[in-house]
Amino acid sequence: MKVKFSLVTQIFTAFVLAIILGTFFGSSIDFLKPFGELFLRLIKFIIAPLILSTLVVGVASTTDPKQLGRIGFKTVVYYFATTAVAIVIGLAVAFAISPGEGVSVSSDGLVAPEAATKEPQSPITTLLHIVPDNPFTSLANGSILQIIFFALFLGIGITLVGEKAQPVFKFFEGFAEVMYKITAIVMKVAPIGILGLLAPVVGQYGPSVLLPLLKVIVAVYVACLLHAVIVYSTAVKTFGKMSPKKFFKGISPAALVAFSTASSAGTLPVTIKNTNENLGVPKKISSFVLPLGATINMDGTAIYQGVAVIFIAQFYNLELSFLQLLTVVLITILASIGTAGVPGAGMIMLAMVLTSVNMPLEGIALIAGIDRVLDMMRTSVNVVGDASAAVVVAGTETETETVEEKQSVTS
Ligand code: ASP
Repeated sequence: MKVKFSLVTQIFTAFVLAIILGTFFGSSIDFLKPFGELFLRLIKFIIAPLILSTLVVGVASTTDPKQLGRIGFKTVVYYFATTAVAIVIGLAVAFAISPGEGVSVSSDGLVAPEAATKEPQSPITTLLHIVPDNPFTSLANGSILQIIFFALFLGIGITLVGEKAQPVFKFFEGFAEVMYKITAIVMKVAPIGILGLLAPVVGQYGPSVLLPLLKVIVAVYVACLLHAVIVYSTAVKTFGKMSPKKFFKGISPAALVAFSTASSAGTLPVTIKNTNENLGVPKKISSFVLPLGATINMDGTAIYQGVAVIFIAQFYNLELSFLQLLTVVLITILASIGTAGVPGAGMIMLAMVLTSVNMPLEGIALIAGIDRVLDMMRTSVNVVGDASAAVVVAGTETETETVEEKQSVTS
């Protein structure tokens, strides 16, 4: 407990230090970048083997196929419902704050053309691509949904074969333990990594870049915080039987790593670690819910897209009808599902949302310059949302006792 507490403190200290150093030293703090890059690479290299091994074990140890189906169903329903609420909160806050009124943005230094011109994938293609044509290519490319698909089938196969497949099961069981251990080792350097990631970002986006678009930033941050406080608190309390305080404290290291890396896929090992150890969610639930969430559940991204649509509409003086708003809600849900858990992906998918209501794609360029600042917050919410799903699903499964027992041990 002491070690865990001190890691959280270290991460938080690094976080504050990064903001101070970035503000004072500007872009000369860039020399810290390699530490950030090192940390990113360290957590990225864990992802594919971690998902594969833990998910195979999770599925293969759930011998009751009904339970597996139930967990899957609950997870997907929760993900859809919270994303829908997220986009509504995003739109409501954006209407309240009116981020696009009276703004004049010079696009100098604000445009990230390569991101703004990339074509988003259609929802159908996204769905089809869940099935890998070669699972080893998926592993090599780190395609999370495809790895999940492969692991699910491996797990089901192991269960169906039974006795003869035990060596395969044992192998993955041992493999998963090793991957957990590696995650724990990598987390020890997290504070240095966070410093290296965050300080250069703060250094680069001095206050002058942020000012014209301050309202957009405020709207995204306020909506994200509201969503986390209202939706996740209620959900973990009602269905997960866990106090929101415990929940947010337990998941805070992952939230800070997400904030620093702007990648929910990259944060996944930390999310899994926190959810198992601090929130007491059984591994067989977290190993399914979290990788899936890191890929399809993006509440923060949905909020951001809602705010962005309103900002761009106001900037260009466009009126959005009720039907158009409804379209935005529906398409945003799909767009956030199709968003990869990597930095900047949500901005690319914004193109899909804008196209659906005939809004100018150039609007993306207006906020591209501050995307990183928005991305950090939305990614944190994406990750916290995934963890809340794990708590909710665990709380409503028979594992409830386990969760509560573990909590009372750790508290
Ligand atoms: N960076 C986000 C994530 O990894 C995705 C996005 O750009 O919205 O969760």
